[in-house]
Amino acid sequence: MSKANKKKKVVVVFGTRPEAIKLVPVVKQLQRNSSVFETVVCTTAQHREMLDEVLDLFDIKLQYDLNLMRRNQGPLDFTIKGLAGIKKILERENPDFILVQGDTATTFVASLAAFHQRIPIGHIEAGLRTNDKYNPFPEEINRRLTSHLADFHFAPTVRAKDNLISENISKASIFLTGNTIIDALFYVLKGIKKNNNCCDKFPYLKDKSKKVILVTAHRRENFGQPLQNIVSALKKIVERNKDVIVVYPVHPNPNVKKNVDKLLADIERIHLIVPLNYADFVYLMNQAYLILTDSGGVQEEASSLGKPILIMRDKTERVEAVEAGAAELVGTNVNKIIKFVEILLNDAKVYSRMAKAVNPFGDGAAAEKIIKILKERI
Ligand code: UDP
Repeated sequence: MSKANKKKKVVVVFGTRPEAIKLVPVVKQLQRNSSVFETVVCTTAQHREMLDEVLDLFDIKLQYDLNLMRRNQGPLDFTIKGLAGIKKILERENPDFILVQGDTATTFVASLAAFHQRIPIGHIEAGLRTNDKYNPFPEEINRRLTSHLADFHFAPTVRAKDNLISENISKASIFLTGNTIIDALFYVLKGIKKNNNCCDKFPYLKDKSKKVILVTAHRRENFGQPLQNIVSALKKIVERNKDVIVVYPVHPNPNVKKNVDKLLADIERIHLIVPLNYADFVYLMNQAYLILTDSGGVQEEASSLGKPILIMRDKTERVEAVEAGAAELVGTNVNKIIKFVEILLNDAKVYSRMAKAVNPFGDGAAAEKIIKILKERI
């Protein structure tokens, strides 16, 4: 085979559940183009069980599993180990390029290792910023550093693209693609429609007179007092609103689980459940009346599902959801959370305005666009 039509080898690297969800559509597209690309899938397993569930759901096979998750491991310890592990894989595979996603320690170390070996880097979901070094920590710096290491920047929105341009990233290397999470979401939604047996897993959803508030809260910035506030707000919300149930898949991190269990276990109409596989979580989002979250990905998904979102963070890098009218940034003040939830419970006009806001994160074809660009340029 001549060099010109030799397959291009790509190492796709991810470590956490959200990275896996957002990279699955890209891996599937690469595999569909197997005459052009040889795909090597590698994980650091920065998350373990929650990541494995995504891989099982989408039937993704790993070529490398560094299995680096440890209890009570700080992000810097992980960064050191991840860098050493990925360095070896890249030396061995010597790919034509790598693909990374988002802003985790895995994203950053894979990019740094590739840079040192002069391997081109494609960064998916590039350009998100809060412009606050420590919020989210260490993600804001992981993604900034990755932007300055990467060669192809796949920006999900115009704002993300503009953020990159304002940091002097070459315009010619930035591509507006939408967010691959919408691809993954649409794919899973189709499957749910086909075999709708998820409802048996959530018997409390059968009472249609109740409004479901779905909650996720496990960001590092919210450990301690902010999480205590969130939990107190949830308790008061169910006490004051008898037509409400709260469903909260609780992250296993002890900083989260201990505090949530302590205050919310055994409270009527609050269902603390284990983290769900992606398909079940999407089903639950679709059943929810509103979503309270500190997650990034959930903000993107909920606005595509027409579910009002209250963001329990001080800052968001998904300002687009707020600007589109789909989300409100409520922070972690108890009274503010209760106030906004009750507005959405009682004011049909506000609810409908938020639910009808147009999703600003893409059309579900981001992965296809990314692969087309790579085919033309690598
Ligand atoms: N998610 C899931 N199961 C759950 C909770 C969330 O599959 O029990 C999914 C959710 O749909 C989204 C992603 O996990 O795609 C978000 O992960 P997380 O909040 O941990 O990270 P972030 O998006 O803030 O980086």
